[in-house]
Amino acid sequence: METIPSEIFLEICSQLYVKDLYTLTLVCRSYRKVLWSKTISIQKIWTCSRVLSFDTYLPYPTLPPPKSMSEQEYVWFTMLADKCSICKTKIEKQELFVCRYWEFGRICCKECIEKKTINVPFVTIFLNTRKVQNSLPKDLLECMPYHERHVFNLGDERLYWADDLQSIQSKYYAFENEQQRDNWVKEKREEVKEFMNEAFKYKWQDQYKYFFPYAFMV
Ligand SMILES: [Zn+2]
Repeated sequence: METIPSEIFLEICSQLYVKDLYTLTLVCRSYRKVLWSKTISIQKIWTCSRVLSFDTYLPYPTLPPPKSMSEQEYVWFTMLADKCSICKTKIEKQELFVCRYWEFGRICCKECIEKKTINVPFVTIFLNTRKVQNSLPKDLLECMPYHERHVFNLGDERLYWADDLQSIQSKYYAFENEQQRDNWVKEKREEVKEFMNEAFKYKWQDQYKYFFPYAFMV
């Protein structure tokens, strides 16, 4: 990079497909440092690259990155990552759609999602009690993102990331009085609501990309 003026280097980068741009980040430390930066100019380069890499008939992902991700993280999560983020097992392209958990910001294989989450049956969440299974306070669960799914013969359930549950539990029980905790829960609940609404848009984007081609097959 020392021999290429930086503006030329960046101009070249903005003309590359995401796979090539990513490969460039692996070439040397200085390329990596520049291309993983969160500055607006570098974010724009990745946006250009993402748009350039769009499939003509079914461009994806067309939404801008979610609040919780940089453009690079977004490109990685939607266009490049093909392994389980926990066990690193390769996931087939057609399976990625069901393994991309926007609620947890992770790609997980079927085994790891079972190991790393706790499941709470839908019905227990809506019972008129203050606590759900495992004596978890219901308002504590409202402070965490969740993935909803239907299990054959068992009904609907919500999955919560187990490590998040641990950290949020320790915070929940650390308050000195109930008023403080209630205020925190209120804030957190709003935060999660906003996050889940956003995640829903990205899940919808994935579903559209996945199911749209099938519309022409029937
Ligand atoms: Zn895995």
